[in-house]
Amino acid sequence: MLKLMRSIKCNSNIRTYKTDNVRVRFAPSPTGYLHLGGLRTALYNFLFAKKYNGKFILRIEDTDQTRLVPDAIQQLQNDLNWSGIEIDEGPSQGGCFGPYIQSSRLSVYREHVHFLLDKGLAYHCFCSDRRLQLLRREALRAHEIPKYDNRCRELSLDEVKTKLDKGEVSCIRFKINENEEQFNDLIYGDITYNVSLNEGDPVIIKSDGYPTYHFANVVDDHLMKITHVLRGVEWQISTIKHVLLYRAFNWNPPLFGHLPLLMNADGTKLSKRQGDIKISHYRENNIFPLAMINFIAHSGGGFSKDLERHLKPRCYSIGELVNQFDLTRIKSHSGKLMMERLLEFNRHELKRRLHSVEEEHNLILQVKELVQNAFCGRVLESSLQLNQEYIRNILHWAVNRIDKLSDIVSKDLEFIWVIPTELKIEEPDMNAVELFKAKLENEEELSEKNSLNTFLKNFCEENKIKFSNFMKLLRSVLSGLKEGPGVAEMIVILGKKNTLRRLETCLNKSKGIS
Ligand code: GLU
Repeated sequence: MLKLMRSIKCNSNIRTYKTDNVRVRFAPSPTGYLHLGGLRTALYNFLFAKKYNGKFILRIEDTDQTRLVPDAIQQLQNDLNWSGIEIDEGPSQGGCFGPYIQSSRLSVYREHVHFLLDKGLAYHCFCSDRRLQLLRREALRAHEIPKYDNRCRELSLDEVKTKLDKGEVSCIRFKINENEEQFNDLIYGDITYNVSLNEGDPVIIKSDGYPTYHFANVVDDHLMKITHVLRGVEWQISTIKHVLLYRAFNWNPPLFGHLPLLMNADGTKLSKRQGDIKISHYRENNIFPLAMINFIAHSGGGFSKDLERHLKPRCYSIGELVNQFDLTRIKSHSGKLMMERLLEFNRHELKRRLHSVEEEHNLILQVKELVQNAFCGRVLESSLQLNQEYIRNILHWAVNRIDKLSDIVSKDLEFIWVIPTELKIEEPDMNAVELFKAKLENEEELSEKNSLNTFLKNFCEENKIKFSNFMKLLRSVLSGLKEGPGVAEMIVILGKKNTLRRLETCLNKSKGIS
Protein backbone atom coordinates (compact mmCIF):
# COMPACT_ATOMS: atom_id res chain seq x y z
CA MET A 1 0.00 0.00 0.00
CA LEU A 2 2.77 2.35 1.02
CA LYS A 3 4.62 1.55 -2.14
CA LEU A 4 1.58 2.17 -4.32
CA MET A 5 0.94 5.59 -2.85
CA ARG A 6 4.52 6.62 -3.46
CA SER A 7 4.54 5.53 -7.05
CA ILE A 8 4.81 8.14 -9.73
CA LYS A 9 3.02 7.85 -13.02
CA CYS A 10 5.12 8.04 -16.09
CA ASN A 11 3.57 8.44 -19.53
CA SER A 12 4.66 8.46 -23.14
CA ASN A 13 7.47 10.75 -23.98
CA ILE A 14 7.34 14.03 -25.83
CA ARG A 15 10.97 14.55 -26.66
CA THR A 16 11.27 18.10 -27.85
CA TYR A 17 13.12 20.85 -26.14
CA LYS A 18 14.31 24.32 -26.88
CA THR A 19 17.99 24.90 -27.19
CA ASP A 20 18.61 28.63 -27.27
CA ASN A 21 20.59 30.36 -24.52
CA VAL A 22 21.26 27.04 -22.89
CA ARG A 23 22.48 27.30 -19.29
CA VAL A 24 22.91 24.10 -17.35
CA ARG A 25 24.47 23.40 -14.01
CA PHE A 26 26.11 20.68 -12.00
CA ALA A 27 25.12 21.18 -8.39
CA PRO A 28 26.97 18.77 -6.11
CA SER A 29 26.80 18.84 -2.34
CA PRO A 30 30.28 18.81 -0.83
CA THR A 31 29.39 15.97 1.49
CA GLY A 32 31.79 13.60 -0.25
CA TYR A 33 33.95 13.24 -3.30
CA LEU A 34 33.04 12.97 -6.97
CA HIS A 35 32.03 9.44 -7.95
CA LEU A 36 31.00 7.82 -11.20
CA GLY A 37 27.32 8.82 -11.01
CA GLY A 38 28.24 12.43 -10.27
CA LEU A 39 30.75 12.53 -13.09
CA ARG A 40 28.11 11.22 -15.49
CA THR A 41 25.74 14.04 -14.46
CA ALA A 42 28.49 16.64 -14.83
CA LEU A 43 29.59 15.21 -18.19
CA TYR A 44 26.11 15.10 -19.71
CA ASN A 45 25.40 18.67 -18.62
CA PHE A 46 28.73 19.78 -20.02
CA LEU A 47 28.19 18.01 -23.37
CA PHE A 48 24.70 19.44 -23.61
CA ALA A 49 25.98 22.96 -22.95
CA LYS A 50 28.76 22.63 -25.53
CA LYS A 51 26.42 21.16 -28.10
CA TYR A 52 24.22 24.24 -28.01
CA ASN A 53 26.94 26.82 -27.35
CA GLY A 54 25.57 27.27 -23.88
CA LYS A 55 27.12 27.67 -20.46
CA PHE A 56 28.05 25.02 -17.92
CA ILE A 57 27.83 26.21 -14.34
CA LEU A 58 29.19 24.65 -11.18
CA ARG A 59 27.14 25.43 -8.11
CA ILE A 60 28.06 24.10 -4.70
CA GLU A 61 25.03 23.09 -2.65
CA ASP A 62 26.35 23.16 0.89
CA THR A 63 23.19 23.90 2.83
CA ASP A 64 23.54 20.80 4.97
CA GLN A 65 26.26 22.18 7.18
CA THR A 66 26.35 19.06 9.32
CA ARG A 67 27.69 16.83 6.53
CA LEU A 68 30.39 18.93 4.93
CA VAL A 69 33.69 17.29 4.00
CA PRO A 70 36.40 19.96 4.39
CA ASP A 71 38.34 19.61 1.12
CA ALA A 72 35.44 18.35 -1.01
CA ILE A 73 34.89 21.58 -2.97
CA GLN A 74 38.51 21.76 -4.07
CA GLN A 75 38.58 18.04 -4.85
CA LEU A 76 35.41 18.29 -6.93
CA GLN A 77 36.93 21.04 -9.02
CA ASN A 78 40.19 19.11 -9.41
CA ASP A 79 38.29 16.03 -10.54
CA LEU A 80 36.22 17.95 -13.07
CA ASN A 81 39.29 19.69 -14.33
CA TRP A 82 41.13 16.40 -14.68
CA SER A 83 38.21 14.93 -16.64
CA GLY A 84 38.35 17.72 -19.19
CA ILE A 85 35.01 19.21 -18.13
CA GLU A 86 35.42 22.96 -18.40
CA ILE A 87 33.43 25.17 -16.08
CA ASP A 88 32.14 28.45 -17.50
CA GLU A 89 30.85 29.89 -14.24
CA GLY A 90 31.52 28.66 -10.74
CA PRO A 91 33.16 29.35 -7.39
CA SER A 92 36.64 29.70 -8.90
CA GLN A 93 35.66 31.08 -12.30
CA GLY A 94 33.15 33.64 -11.03
CA GLY A 95 30.36 34.87 -13.32
CA CYS A 96 27.47 37.30 -13.39
CA PHE A 97 25.14 35.16 -11.30
CA GLY A 98 27.31 34.40 -8.27
CA PRO A 99 28.13 33.68 -5.61
CA TYR A 100 28.11 30.05 -6.70
CA ILE A 101 28.31 28.54 -3.22
CA GLN A 102 24.94 28.39 -1.50
CA SER A 103 26.23 29.14 2.00
CA SER A 104 27.25 32.56 0.64
CA ARG A 105 23.73 33.23 -0.60
CA LEU A 106 21.77 33.11 2.65
CA SER A 107 20.47 36.69 2.27
CA VAL A 108 19.06 35.75 -1.16
CA TYR A 109 17.06 32.88 0.34
CA ARG A 110 15.90 35.03 3.25
CA GLU A 111 14.56 37.63 0.86
CA HIS A 112 12.74 35.02 -1.18
CA VAL A 113 11.22 33.23 1.76
CA HIS A 114 9.82 36.54 2.95
CA PHE A 115 8.04 36.88 -0.33
CA LEU A 116 6.33 33.51 0.24
CA LEU A 117 5.55 34.31 3.90
CA ASP A 118 3.98 37.62 2.94
CA LYS A 119 1.83 35.93 0.31
CA GLY A 120 0.69 33.32 2.83
CA LEU A 121 2.33 30.55 0.79
CA ALA A 122 4.75 29.63 3.56
CA TYR A 123 4.50 29.65 7.33
CA HIS A 124 6.51 29.37 10.52
CA CYS A 125 6.38 25.99 12.18
CA PHE A 126 7.18 25.62 15.87
CA CYS A 127 6.66 21.88 16.22
CA SER A 128 9.39 20.25 18.26
CA ASP A 129 11.48 17.31 17.08
CA ARG A 130 9.77 15.30 19.75
CA ARG A 131 6.32 16.00 18.33
CA LEU A 132 7.47 15.16 14.81
CA GLN A 133 8.93 11.88 16.01
CA LEU A 134 5.72 11.04 17.79
CA LEU A 135 3.68 11.73 14.64
CA ARG A 136 6.01 9.45 12.75
CA ARG A 137 5.74 6.63 15.21
CA GLU A 138 1.95 6.85 15.34
CA ALA A 139 1.69 6.79 11.55
CA LEU A 140 3.92 3.75 11.29
CA ARG A 141 1.90 1.98 13.94
CA ALA A 142 -1.30 2.70 11.98
CA HIS A 143 0.39 1.58 8.72
CA GLU A 144 0.09 5.06 7.29
CA ILE A 145 2.64 7.15 5.47
CA PRO A 146 4.50 9.18 8.07
CA LYS A 147 4.13 12.84 7.29
CA TYR A 148 3.82 16.20 8.98
CA ASP A 149 0.18 17.02 9.79
CA ASN A 150 0.58 20.70 8.80
CA ARG A 151 -0.60 21.78 12.27
CA CYS A 152 1.23 25.12 12.28
CA ARG A 153 -0.60 26.19 9.11
CA GLU A 154 -3.46 27.08 11.43
CA LEU A 155 -1.54 29.48 13.67
CA SER A 156 -2.79 33.06 13.49
CA LEU A 157 -0.41 35.90 12.66
CA ASP A 158 -0.61 37.08 16.28
CA GLU A 159 0.22 33.63 17.64
CA VAL A 160 3.21 33.45 15.33
CA LYS A 161 4.38 36.90 16.34
CA THR A 162 4.14 36.09 20.05
CA LYS A 163 6.11 32.87 19.63
CA LEU A 164 8.78 34.59 17.55
CA ASP A 165 9.04 37.42 20.09
CA LYS A 166 9.51 34.83 22.82
CA GLY A 167 12.40 33.44 20.78
CA GLU A 168 10.79 30.03 20.15
CA VAL A 169 12.71 27.89 17.68
CA SER A 170 11.00 27.62 14.31
CA CYS A 171 11.49 26.52 10.76
CA ILE A 172 9.59 27.69 7.69
CA ARG A 173 7.38 25.35 5.68
CA PHE A 174 5.96 25.65 2.19
CA LYS A 175 2.23 25.07 1.71
CA ILE A 176 1.84 22.20 -0.69
CA ASN A 177 -1.39 22.13 -2.64
CA GLU A 178 -3.38 18.94 -2.63
CA ASN A 179 -3.74 18.25 -6.32
CA GLU A 180 -1.99 15.71 -8.43
CA GLU A 181 0.68 17.60 -10.38
CA GLN A 182 2.51 16.86 -13.56
CA PHE A 183 5.63 17.78 -15.46
CA ASN A 184 7.16 16.52 -18.66
CA ASP A 185 10.48 14.83 -18.11
CA LEU A 186 12.78 15.12 -21.13
CA ILE A 187 13.78 11.50 -20.65
CA TYR A 188 10.86 9.78 -18.88
CA GLY A 189 7.92 11.65 -20.41
CA ASP A 190 4.95 12.84 -18.33
CA ILE A 191 5.44 12.39 -14.61
CA THR A 192 2.46 12.72 -12.32
CA TYR A 193 2.70 12.77 -8.56
CA ASN A 194 0.67 13.93 -5.62
CA VAL A 195 3.10 15.33 -3.09
CA SER A 196 0.55 16.02 -0.38
CA LEU A 197 -0.57 12.37 -0.27
CA ASN A 198 2.95 11.37 0.62
CA GLU A 199 4.40 14.32 2.47
CA GLY A 200 3.31 17.09 4.77
CA ASP A 201 4.32 20.65 3.97
CA PRO A 202 8.07 20.55 3.38
CA VAL A 203 10.55 22.61 5.33
CA ILE A 204 12.17 25.27 3.17
CA ILE A 205 14.17 27.13 5.81
CA LYS A 206 15.58 25.06 8.65
CA SER A 207 15.76 26.24 12.24
CA ASP A 208 19.48 27.00 11.76
CA GLY A 209 18.51 29.60 9.15
CA TYR A 210 19.86 27.57 6.24
CA PRO A 211 17.53 26.74 3.35
CA THR A 212 16.76 23.13 2.50
CA TYR A 213 17.97 21.65 -0.77
CA HIS A 214 14.57 22.09 -2.46
CA PHE A 215 14.24 25.77 -1.73
CA ALA A 216 17.81 26.86 -2.44
CA ASN A 217 17.89 24.72 -5.59
CA VAL A 218 14.77 26.32 -7.06
CA VAL A 219 15.70 29.89 -6.13
CA ASP A 220 19.19 29.47 -7.56
CA ASP A 221 18.14 27.70 -10.74
CA HIS A 222 15.80 30.59 -11.39
CA LEU A 223 18.23 33.39 -10.50
CA MET A 224 21.06 31.73 -12.39
CA LYS A 225 18.77 31.49 -15.45
CA ILE A 226 19.13 27.73 -15.73
CA THR A 227 17.26 26.51 -18.81
CA HIS A 228 17.61 22.71 -18.44
CA VAL A 229 18.02 20.69 -15.27
CA LEU A 230 19.71 17.38 -16.05
CA ARG A 231 20.22 15.37 -12.89
CA GLY A 232 20.07 11.86 -11.49
CA VAL A 233 16.70 10.10 -11.45
CA GLU A 234 16.84 9.94 -7.66
CA TRP A 235 15.76 13.60 -7.71
CA GLN A 236 12.73 12.99 -9.93
CA ILE A 237 10.44 12.51 -6.95
CA SER A 238 11.39 16.02 -5.73
CA THR A 239 10.68 17.74 -8.99
CA ILE A 240 6.93 18.17 -8.49
CA LYS A 241 7.73 19.98 -5.26
CA HIS A 242 10.08 22.19 -7.21
CA VAL A 243 7.46 22.85 -9.85
CA LEU A 244 5.06 23.95 -7.08
CA LEU A 245 7.66 26.35 -5.75
CA TYR A 246 8.17 27.83 -9.22
CA ARG A 247 4.44 28.34 -9.42
CA ALA A 248 4.33 30.01 -6.00
CA PHE A 249 6.92 32.52 -7.20
CA ASN A 250 5.16 32.87 -10.54
CA TRP A 251 8.34 31.81 -12.35
CA ASN A 252 8.72 29.66 -15.44
CA PRO A 253 10.39 26.40 -14.48
CA PRO A 254 13.36 25.13 -16.49
CA LEU A 255 12.99 21.91 -18.45
CA PHE A 256 13.78 18.80 -16.43
CA GLY A 257 15.47 15.62 -17.62
CA HIS A 258 16.36 12.87 -15.17
CA LEU A 259 19.25 10.61 -15.96
CA PRO A 260 18.64 6.91 -15.29
CA LEU A 261 20.70 5.13 -12.68
CA LEU A 262 24.10 3.71 -13.41
CA MET A 263 24.39 0.18 -12.05
CA ASN A 264 27.06 -2.44 -11.70
CA ALA A 265 27.16 -4.97 -14.54
CA ASP A 266 25.29 -7.49 -12.33
CA GLY A 267 22.44 -5.04 -11.79
CA THR A 268 23.40 -4.12 -8.22
CA LYS A 269 23.51 -0.53 -7.07
CA LEU A 270 26.71 1.50 -7.18
CA SER A 271 27.45 2.68 -3.72
CA LYS A 272 29.04 6.05 -3.06
CA ARG A 273 30.75 4.44 -0.16
CA GLN A 274 32.71 2.07 -2.38
CA GLY A 275 36.09 3.75 -2.23
CA ASP A 276 37.00 2.53 -5.66
CA ILE A 277 34.34 4.49 -7.47
CA LYS A 278 35.74 7.81 -6.39
CA ILE A 279 37.08 9.57 -9.47
CA SER A 280 40.36 10.39 -7.73
CA HIS A 281 40.89 6.66 -7.28
CA TYR A 282 40.95 6.18 -11.04
CA ARG A 283 43.19 9.18 -11.55
CA GLU A 284 45.64 7.86 -8.96
CA ASN A 285 45.54 4.49 -10.72
CA ASN A 286 46.67 5.89 -14.05
CA ILE A 287 43.37 5.81 -15.86
CA PHE A 288 43.38 8.44 -18.59
CA PRO A 289 40.62 11.05 -18.33
CA LEU A 290 39.40 10.44 -21.87
CA ALA A 291 39.15 6.71 -21.13
CA MET A 292 37.02 7.51 -18.09
CA ILE A 293 34.78 9.89 -20.03
CA ASN A 294 34.27 7.40 -22.86
CA PHE A 295 33.60 4.58 -20.43
CA ILE A 296 30.80 6.63 -18.85
CA ALA A 297 29.46 7.86 -22.19
CA HIS A 298 29.33 4.33 -23.60
CA SER A 299 27.53 3.06 -20.49
CA GLY A 300 25.03 5.86 -20.04
CA GLY A 301 23.56 6.09 -23.56
CA GLY A 302 22.49 9.30 -25.24
CA PHE A 303 24.76 9.29 -28.25
CA SER A 304 24.23 8.86 -31.96
CA LYS A 305 24.18 5.36 -33.40
CA ASP A 306 27.75 5.72 -34.52
CA LEU A 307 29.05 5.63 -30.97
CA GLU A 308 26.49 3.20 -29.62
CA ARG A 309 27.16 0.65 -32.36
CA HIS A 310 30.87 0.57 -31.77
CA LEU A 311 31.52 -2.89 -30.44
CA LYS A 312 35.23 -2.36 -30.22
CA PRO A 313 35.73 0.57 -27.91
CA ARG A 314 37.25 3.65 -29.33
CA CYS A 315 38.03 6.75 -27.34
CA TYR A 316 36.19 9.68 -28.83
CA SER A 317 37.54 13.15 -28.23
CA ILE A 318 35.44 15.56 -26.21
CA GLY A 319 34.59 17.37 -29.46
CA GLU A 320 33.35 14.15 -31.07
CA LEU A 321 31.29 13.32 -27.99
CA VAL A 322 29.73 16.79 -28.10
CA ASN A 323 28.74 16.23 -31.73
CA GLN A 324 27.29 12.82 -31.05
CA PHE A 325 25.48 13.70 -27.83
CA ASP A 326 21.73 13.50 -28.23
CA LEU A 327 19.51 13.84 -25.18
CA THR A 328 16.58 12.21 -26.97
CA ARG A 329 18.57 8.98 -27.22
CA ILE A 330 18.91 8.53 -23.47
CA LYS A 331 16.82 5.52 -22.51
CA SER A 332 14.92 5.46 -19.25
CA HIS A 333 16.33 2.08 -18.21
CA SER A 334 19.46 2.04 -16.10
CA GLY A 335 22.89 1.96 -17.64
CA LYS A 336 25.29 -0.84 -16.81
CA LEU A 337 28.93 -0.18 -16.09
CA MET A 338 31.15 -2.91 -17.50
CA MET A 339 34.27 -2.23 -15.52
CA GLU A 340 36.50 -4.26 -17.83
CA ARG A 341 35.65 -1.86 -20.65
CA LEU A 342 37.32 0.94 -18.73
CA LEU A 343 40.65 -0.80 -19.21
CA GLU A 344 39.90 -1.36 -22.88
CA PHE A 345 39.31 2.35 -23.30
CA ASN A 346 42.46 3.03 -21.37
CA ARG A 347 44.54 0.81 -23.65
CA HIS A 348 42.99 2.52 -26.61
CA GLU A 349 43.84 5.93 -25.25
CA LEU A 350 47.41 4.87 -24.50
CA LYS A 351 47.81 3.81 -28.12
CA ARG A 352 46.31 7.03 -29.37
CA ARG A 353 48.67 9.08 -27.23
CA LEU A 354 51.68 7.15 -28.47
CA HIS A 355 50.83 8.20 -31.99
CA SER A 356 51.27 11.87 -31.22
CA VAL A 357 54.85 13.13 -30.85
CA GLU A 358 53.98 15.55 -28.10
CA GLU A 359 51.91 13.05 -26.12
CA GLU A 360 54.56 10.41 -26.62
CA HIS A 361 57.11 12.73 -25.08
CA ASN A 362 54.83 13.33 -22.07
CA LEU A 363 54.35 9.59 -21.67
CA ILE A 364 58.12 9.08 -21.67
CA LEU A 365 58.45 11.63 -18.88
CA GLN A 366 55.64 9.99 -16.93
CA VAL A 367 57.24 6.57 -17.27
CA LYS A 368 60.55 7.99 -16.09
CA GLU A 369 58.83 9.35 -13.00
CA LEU A 370 56.98 6.08 -12.41
CA VAL A 371 60.26 4.14 -12.61
CA GLN A 372 62.05 6.52 -10.28
CA ASN A 373 59.20 6.40 -7.76
CA ALA A 374 58.96 2.64 -7.96
CA PHE A 375 62.64 1.75 -7.61
CA CYS A 376 64.72 4.67 -6.38
CA GLY A 377 64.30 3.81 -2.73
CA ARG A 378 65.62 0.30 -3.38
CA VAL A 379 68.37 0.63 -5.94
CA LEU A 380 70.87 3.27 -6.99
CA GLU A 381 69.60 5.61 -9.69
CA SER A 382 72.68 4.67 -11.75
CA SER A 383 71.40 1.10 -12.03
CA LEU A 384 68.11 2.27 -13.60
CA GLN A 385 67.73 2.41 -17.36
CA LEU A 386 66.09 5.71 -18.04
CA ASN A 387 67.36 6.78 -21.39
CA GLN A 388 64.64 8.43 -23.49
CA GLU A 389 65.04 6.29 -26.58
CA TYR A 390 64.98 3.14 -24.47
CA ILE A 391 61.79 4.21 -22.68
CA ARG A 392 60.25 5.05 -26.04
CA ASN A 393 60.99 1.57 -27.40
CA ILE A 394 59.70 -0.08 -24.26
CA LEU A 395 56.49 1.94 -24.43
CA HIS A 396 55.87 0.85 -28.02
CA TRP A 397 56.57 -2.76 -27.08
CA ALA A 398 54.36 -2.58 -24.00
CA VAL A 399 51.40 -0.82 -25.51
CA ASN A 400 49.64 -4.04 -26.46
CA ARG A 401 50.49 -5.73 -23.21
CA ILE A 402 49.52 -3.28 -20.49
CA ASP A 403 46.20 -1.81 -19.40
CA LYS A 404 47.57 1.31 -17.75
CA LEU A 405 50.85 3.12 -17.66
CA SER A 406 51.71 2.04 -14.12
CA ASP A 407 51.65 -1.62 -15.23
CA ILE A 408 54.98 -0.87 -16.84
CA VAL A 409 56.68 -0.95 -13.44
CA SER A 410 54.91 -4.10 -12.25
CA LYS A 411 56.99 -6.85 -10.66
CA ASP A 412 57.41 -8.94 -13.80
CA LEU A 413 58.59 -5.97 -15.85
CA GLU A 414 60.97 -4.68 -13.20
CA PHE A 415 63.97 -6.14 -15.07
CA ILE A 416 63.33 -3.69 -17.90
CA TRP A 417 64.34 -0.81 -15.69
CA VAL A 418 66.68 -2.19 -13.10
CA ILE A 419 70.12 -3.41 -14.19
CA PRO A 420 70.80 -6.40 -11.97
CA THR A 421 73.73 -5.95 -9.67
CA GLU A 422 74.25 -9.45 -8.38
CA LEU A 423 74.18 -12.90 -9.88
CA LYS A 424 71.95 -15.30 -8.05
CA ILE A 425 73.68 -18.39 -9.47
CA GLU A 426 76.30 -20.52 -7.81
CA GLU A 427 79.48 -21.07 -9.85
CA PRO A 428 78.32 -19.24 -12.95
CA ASP A 429 79.97 -20.19 -16.22
CA MET A 430 81.42 -16.78 -17.07
CA ASN A 431 83.23 -18.20 -20.04
CA ALA A 432 79.89 -18.98 -21.62
CA VAL A 433 78.76 -15.41 -20.95
CA GLU A 434 81.94 -14.09 -22.60
CA LEU A 435 81.38 -16.29 -25.65
CA PHE A 436 77.76 -15.34 -25.93
CA LYS A 437 78.61 -11.65 -25.75
CA ALA A 438 81.12 -12.05 -28.57
CA LYS A 439 78.58 -13.92 -30.68
CA LEU A 440 75.83 -11.38 -30.05
CA GLU A 441 78.08 -8.47 -30.92
CA ASN A 442 78.35 -9.76 -34.47
CA GLU A 443 74.63 -10.26 -34.92
CA GLU A 444 72.12 -7.91 -36.44
CA GLU A 445 69.49 -6.48 -34.07
CA LEU A 446 67.48 -9.45 -32.85
CA SER A 447 63.90 -8.41 -32.65
CA GLU A 448 62.02 -11.62 -33.16
CA LYS A 449 61.44 -14.10 -30.34
CA ASN A 450 61.44 -17.31 -32.43
CA SER A 451 64.62 -16.59 -34.36
CA LEU A 452 66.27 -15.61 -31.08
CA ASN A 453 65.31 -18.93 -29.57
CA THR A 454 66.94 -20.72 -32.50
CA PHE A 455 69.97 -18.45 -32.12
CA LEU A 456 70.27 -19.36 -28.42
CA LYS A 457 69.89 -23.08 -29.14
CA ASN A 458 72.51 -23.00 -31.92
CA PHE A 459 74.87 -21.09 -29.67
CA CYS A 460 74.61 -23.75 -26.93
CA GLU A 461 75.04 -26.60 -29.41
CA GLU A 462 78.08 -25.03 -31.07
CA ASN A 463 79.74 -24.45 -27.71
CA LYS A 464 78.62 -27.67 -26.05
CA ILE A 465 76.85 -25.77 -23.28
CA LYS A 466 73.83 -27.25 -21.54
CA PHE A 467 70.88 -25.19 -22.80
CA SER A 468 68.79 -25.19 -19.62
CA ASN A 469 71.73 -24.20 -17.43
CA PHE A 470 72.69 -21.42 -19.77
CA MET A 471 69.15 -20.07 -19.88
CA LYS A 472 69.12 -19.94 -16.09
CA LEU A 473 72.40 -18.08 -16.10
CA LEU A 474 71.36 -15.67 -18.83
CA ARG A 475 68.08 -14.94 -17.10
CA SER A 476 69.93 -14.03 -13.96
CA VAL A 477 72.51 -11.91 -15.80
CA LEU A 478 69.87 -10.00 -17.73
CA SER A 479 67.17 -9.64 -15.13
CA GLY A 480 68.40 -10.75 -11.73
CA LEU A 481 65.22 -12.85 -11.67
CA LYS A 482 64.64 -16.55 -11.29
CA GLU A 483 61.36 -16.38 -13.14
CA GLY A 484 59.72 -14.06 -15.62
CA PRO A 485 59.37 -13.79 -19.38
CA GLY A 486 61.38 -16.22 -21.53
CA VAL A 487 65.02 -15.30 -22.10
CA ALA A 488 64.50 -14.76 -25.83
CA GLU A 489 61.65 -12.38 -25.10
CA MET A 490 63.77 -10.54 -22.54
CA ILE A 491 66.46 -9.97 -25.14
CA VAL A 492 63.86 -8.67 -27.59
CA ILE A 493 62.51 -6.28 -24.98
CA LEU A 494 65.93 -5.06 -23.86
CA GLY A 495 67.30 -4.78 -27.38
CA LYS A 496 70.79 -5.73 -28.47
CA LYS A 497 72.56 -2.69 -27.01
CA ASN A 498 71.12 -3.09 -23.51
CA THR A 499 71.58 -6.84 -23.51
CA LEU A 500 75.26 -6.35 -24.31
CA ARG A 501 75.51 -3.71 -21.61
CA ARG A 502 74.14 -6.10 -19.02
CA LEU A 503 76.41 -8.93 -20.15
CA GLU A 504 79.36 -6.60 -19.86
CA THR A 505 78.37 -5.30 -16.42
CA CYS A 506 78.21 -8.88 -15.21
CA LEU A 507 81.58 -9.82 -16.75
CA ASN A 508 83.25 -6.74 -15.30
CA LYS A 509 81.84 -7.54 -11.89
CA SER A 510 83.16 -11.07 -12.03
CA LYS A 511 86.59 -9.69 -12.94
CA GLY A 512 86.40 -7.23 -10.10
CA ILE A 513 86.04 -4.20 -12.40
CA SER A 514 83.15 -1.99 -11.46
N1 GLU B 1 22.78 18.95 -4.50
C1 GLU B 1 22.14 17.91 -5.24
C2 GLU B 1 23.10 16.73 -5.33
O1 GLU B 1 23.96 16.62 -4.53
C3 GLU B 1 21.78 18.44 -6.59
C4 GLU B 1 20.62 17.79 -7.24
C5 GLU B 1 20.17 18.65 -8.42
O2 GLU B 1 20.92 18.63 -9.40
O3 GLU B 1 19.18 19.30 -8.34
O4 GLU B 1 23.06 15.90 -6.16
